[in-house]
Order: sequence, then structure tokens, then C-alpha cells
Amino acid sequence: MRRFAWVLVFAALIAALLYAFRAPLSTRLLERVAIQRMTADPVSALPDGIHVVLCGAGSPLPDPQRSGPCVAVVAGGKLYVVDAGSGAARNLLGMNLPPGAVEAVFLTHFHSDHIDGLGELALQRWVGGSHEQPLPLVGPTGVDRIARGFNTAYEPDHGYRVAHHGEQVVPSSGAGFDAHPYPTPSPGSEQTVWEEGGLRVSAFRVEHPPIDPAVGYRFDYGGRSVVISGDTRKSVEIERMARDVDLLVHEALAPQLVGVMERAALANGMQNRAKIMADILDYHASPVEAAQSAQTAGARHLLFYHVVPPLLVPGMQAAFLEGVTDAYSGDVSVGRDGTRVWLPPDSSAIEVSGES
Ligand SMILES: [Zn+2]
Ligand SMILES: [Zn+2]
Repeated sequence: MRRFAWVLVFAALIAALLYAFRAPLSTRLLERVAIQRMTADPVSALPDGIHVVLCGAGSPLPDPQRSGPCVAVVAGGKLYVVDAGSGAARNLLGMNLPPGAVEAVFLTHFHSDHIDGLGELALQRWVGGSHEQPLPLVGPTGVDRIARGFNTAYEPDHGYRVAHHGEQVVPSSGAGFDAHPYPTPSPGSEQTVWEEGGLRVSAFRVEHPPIDPAVGYRFDYGGRSVVISGDTRKSVEIERMARDVDLLVHEALAPQLVGVMERAALANGMQNRAKIMADILDYHASPVEAAQSAQTAGARHLLFYHVVPPLLVPGMQAAFLEGVTDAYSGDVSVGRDGTRVWLPPDSSAIEVSGES
């Protein structure tokens, strides 16, 4: 008993010492972490194959686990980003995918939730990598207007940075975006929009009316393939492009859960919020519809992103997935910020981590 008391006293003493020296200790810890983080080249250090990381698994509706839509793809040791919703640049940094390493951004459509994070991403990429060329912003017709708008809004800031840090650190030629528009593919056809080091990125039209253009993307590299749906209701184009694909990253909105939110809005006399909840049903796919598409296509793994509504209450994920396993025989993951999938080259392995 006496020995136990001594152990307690000793533990309390250690805790008190740690607390007293918390400032120098945390500074030492920061030094070690900063050296590791800043000197490594974490993107090219990843093993070969395709890596998909959700840098935003949510929608415009706030969800602590799911930021605005953002999908990072690493292939051939290079980092690409599909859409940059709110939080994109911060999440990439936190996920050890430095914005300074982004090669290009692909936009699926110009809904605000998919472009909210663009300005911050271009700024972090420029400053983080001292780039001499602007960040390529690849998208269907109209993407030049988006690039121009962000460039205009950030023009004063670009001037401040160059004046403060100098051309060596932030070359003025590398600020902002360079638009790479392509004609929106018609249904039944796809368009190669990027080719580099064995990677091919193809765009195809999806269905998100009245939003036009709206596209999805397919990434092919090292004998592996990924389709990212963008925003779409159930679409035969997804089923065509996702044929035998390793990974289908599909958006989904659970109508029965959005219905609960609509009724709550009505009960509180919030007519306009109720109308928005009713309107969004017709241009998104339900989880079961996405699962049906994955089954029709023969996709090997289905990863949900752009998850609507936010899954805030315990058990809601089960409600979100209701009927999915009846519709689809493959593996299913519900994404959250930080969910990762690795597809090693010329293999059938699918390694998923960080799903919810
Ligand atoms: Zn949309
Ligand atoms: Zn959206």
C-alpha cells in the first residue's frame, strides 16, 4: 500500500514537471515535426500506383467530418486535385499533400461548393512551391471565367506577396490560375484532358440539371482506374465510364434523411430552406442509385463522397446506407475527410483507410 502511494507521488511529480516545462517541451516537439514535414517530399515518396485521398467528403451543408468537395489523386508521383471546396488547401496540408506540389486542378462544374477553396489553393500552391507558371485549372467551357475571376480577386494580394518576399520566393509569373478549357463531351463520348507520365485523365458528361456543363473524370494509370462522379443524378454515363473500374468515387444524397430536414424546416416556418431541401433531391443520386450504377458498371469498390445530409447523429450512417448492400455486391466505404485508397500498379489490391 505504501509502495502504491509512492508510485502515485512519483507520477504526480512527473506530471507536474511536464506541465511546468510544457512550453519548451512543445517547442522541441514542434522542431522535430517541422523538420520532418518540411524537408520530406511526401508526394513522390508515396509508393507507386494511384492514391485517392478525400480532401473534402462533404457538401455545402456543414459537417465536422466532411469539408467541401475535394478529391486528391496521386499518380506517377504527381498530385492532382478534382474540385476545391471550402477547406481544400488546409486539408491537403494536414494530409501531408502539400498544396505547393499540386500539378493541376480539374473542375467538375462551377457550383460554389466545388470552387469555394480555389483561391486559397492557388495561393498556397504558388507560395509553397515558388512556381513560375500559374496553376493549371482544367475544366469544361466556362472555366476561363472562373480562373479570371479568382485572378482578379487575388491581384492585390499577389502584389503584396511579391513586394514583401521578392520575385525569387514568389515569382509574379506563377500567381493565380491558367485556364485549360475543353469542349464539354457529348453523351456517349469522352475527352482526354491530361496526359503525363503514363497517367490519362478523361472527362465525360454527367447529369446535374439545370447545371451545364457538369462532368466527371476518369483516371487511368499503371493498369488501375478511378472514376470520380462529380455532382450527378443516376447517370448512364457513369455506368459507361466506370465499367470494370477499380474505384468509383460517387456522390450521394439520402432522400429520406433530407426529407427529415425538410419537414423540420417546414415545422419551424422556414419555407425557403424547406424548398431548397425539396429541390436538391432531383439533381443528386441516392446511395442506392449510386450502388446500382456501381453494380451495372462492375466497379470493384464504391466510395461515397459529397455525402448529404451531414451524418451528425450516431446511427445515421446506417440510415444513409439503407438498401446499398442489396443493390451492390462490391465493397462500400462512406468517405470522410482523410479517407485514403491506394491502388498498387498492375495488381488487384485495393487498400482503404480512414473511412468512417
Ligand atoms: Zn453541384
Ligand atoms: Zn456539390
